[in-house]
Parts: sequence; C-alpha cells; structure tokens
Amino acid sequence: MFSDSLSQYIQQDEPLASRCWLKIGGSASYYAEASDMEVLKALCTEAHRLDIPVKILGGGSNLLIRPGSVDALVLRLVGEFQSTTIRENHLIAGSAASLSDVISKAAEHGLSGLEHLAGIPGTIGGAVVCNSGVKNDDIGSHVLQVHAIDREGNLHTLNRDALKFSFRRSNLEDVVITGVEFALERLDPQEVTRRLQANWIVKKAAQPASSARVGKLFVEPGGSRIVDLLDAVGMRSTAEGGAAMITQFPGFVQVNENATANDVLALSNRIARAVEVQSGIRLRSQLRIW
Ligand SMILES: Cc1cc2nc3c(=O)[nH]c(=O)nc-3n(C[C@H](O)[C@H](O)[C@H](O)COP(=O)(O)OP(=O)(O)OC[C@H]3O[C@@H](n4cnc5c(N)ncnc54)[C@H](O)[C@@H]3O)c2cc1C
Repeated sequence: MFSDSLSQYIQQDEPLASRCWLKIGGSASYYAEASDMEVLKALCTEAHRLDIPVKILGGGSNLLIRPGSVDALVLRLVGEFQSTTIRENHLIAGSAASLSDVISKAAEHGLSGLEHLAGIPGTIGGAVVCNSGVKNDDIGSHVLQVHAIDREGNLHTLNRDALKFSFRRSNLEDVVITGVEFALERLDPQEVTRRLQANWIVKKAAQPASSARVGKLFVEPGGSRIVDLLDAVGMRSTAEGGAAMITQFPGFVQVNENATANDVLALSNRIARAVEVQSGIRLRSQLRIW
C-alpha cells in the first residue's frame, strides 16, 4: 500500500474515459495528479518499491483504453509541469503544457520552428514521446534537451545525442518526461504568427472537431497517402461495432458511447489486413493502447 504521506494524492479505481479523446475505457487501479517534482519523484519511487507500473496521461488524444482496470499508477502532471519559459531563442516547456499554448507563445516571441505543429492536440510530453508532427517535420527535430524521471525515481537530463527520434517514435517511452527544451529560430513575430495561422487553417480543415469522440487510427505511411490506401480497399467509411471511420477525414475513427476498445482494434486490424493484402503496405497503429 502507498505510504500515509502519499495516500492523500492517490485515488483508487479512477475512471479514465472522460480524460481521453475517445471517451471510452475503464479505470486506473491507482490515479494521482502531481503538481511538483517532489511529489512526482516520491510517487514514482513508491510505485517502484511496490512494483506498480507507472503510466503517464497527457492530453489523452492518442490513447485507446481497454475496458476494466488499467493495473498501474496513472499519473497526470499539473501545476509546475504546465509552465513555459523563454530564454533567448530557447523555449523550455513543462511536459504538461498544452502543445497549442506553447506554439502560440513561441510565435508571440518570434520563435520559429514549432508552428507546423499547429492544430495537433495534446501536451508537450505526449507530442515528444510520440514524436508528433506533420508530413515533413516533427517535434523531435527541434528538441535540444529532455528532463525526465526514470521508473526508480531518478532524475535525468537527456541531451540531444541521447535522444532518438524516428517517424512518430522516440526512445522516451520508458521515462516520465518532466520538461523539454527547444532550440528555435528567431524571426519577426508577425511572420511566425502568420505561418502559425496558415498551418492552423489547413489542419483544422483536415481533422475532426475536438468535441467529437475521435482518434487518429494510423500513422501516415511514408510514400503513400492514407486516403488512397483506404479508397483502394473500399474502407474509407467502414465500421465495426461502435467504431466507424470518418468518411470526410480519412484515417480518423469516431466512436459512439457503446463502443469498446475491442471495436476500435477490430476495425483497425481489418483495415490494416486489407491494405497489406492490396498494397503490401503495413499500416502502423497511431494510438497507444492501455
Ligand atoms: C484530431 C486529432 C488530430 C491529430 N493530429 C495529429 C497529427 O497531425 N500528427 C501527429 O503526429 N499526431 C496527431 N494526433 C495524435 C495525437 O494528438 C498526438 O500524438 C499528441 O501529440 C499526443 O499527445 P497527448 O498529450 O494527447 O498524449 P496522450 O494521448 O495522453 O499520450 C500518448 C502517449 O504519450 C505518453 N506520455 C504523455 N505524456 C507523457 C510524459 N510527460 N512522459 C512520458 N510519457 C508521456 C503516454 O503515456 C502515451 O503513451 C492527432 C490526434 C487527434 C485526436
């Protein structure tokens, strides 16, 4: 059991559905919000001592949660982890800062590099772990340093040469990211804001509204467009149980309130199989599954 000093932070059997974009899934066996480093470190150390896995919930825009219990301590970072500081052409963001707030702040200060990420939901931590991005650019290309805590509760500063980013992946899956330092280019704030707005308009037209129960099902495959692959197998509008592909936003899935993670997985597997048979291309799931 968690020690008395930490039990005040812990909730048991905490429902998670409302905290992720798809709004489905079960509960966390343990759930806590950490607002400063001391509490976060203590929670990680204690979870390690008790042999309880730790999972981090960012904005929940890339999570598919199964029904039942997530047997872990699910941590959400708040408070000091939501801050953003600017020093010359460096922007230092807490991992729980919203990606869109950070991009706007960078633009306001005439710091260019992140504006192509406009419209991607979620937090800095989630974006860096998933190396989120658009076709020709990803967040990892602009990261100088990552501050993190390992599962035993030890603090680390990972410099550029220790960081590995590949297409929608990083080598940061097993740590808790607490902060990220970006190296950006100084430009006229009006020009950065103009680029940000232009990217945002394009993105907004290409993805469903944030109010919908939606998720991005597949990583965009290199060399082919997801829309062409779906059309080639006649699956742009296919459905499985309570999960359906959104016809006007190819590659995005929408669920209804009766959907389960299994509906989403069945849909995803059926499409991936058909695409592989038809084109030889192996689609990779974008969603992280708990
Ligand atoms: C409408 C829509 C549009 C999207 N468009 C794009 C797009 O254009 N490009 C793209 O790449 N993605 C896109 N996505 C996917 C998703 O938004 C991104 O991957 C986003 O960066 C995930 O951030 P998050 O904070 O929501 O992460 P979450 O969904 O909360 O978590 C994702 C993973 O990151 C881990 N994680 C989160 N925070 C931390 C932390 N501090 N430390 C360690 N691990 C952490 C979680 O444990 C989990 O494994 C889109 C999703 C939606 C719903």
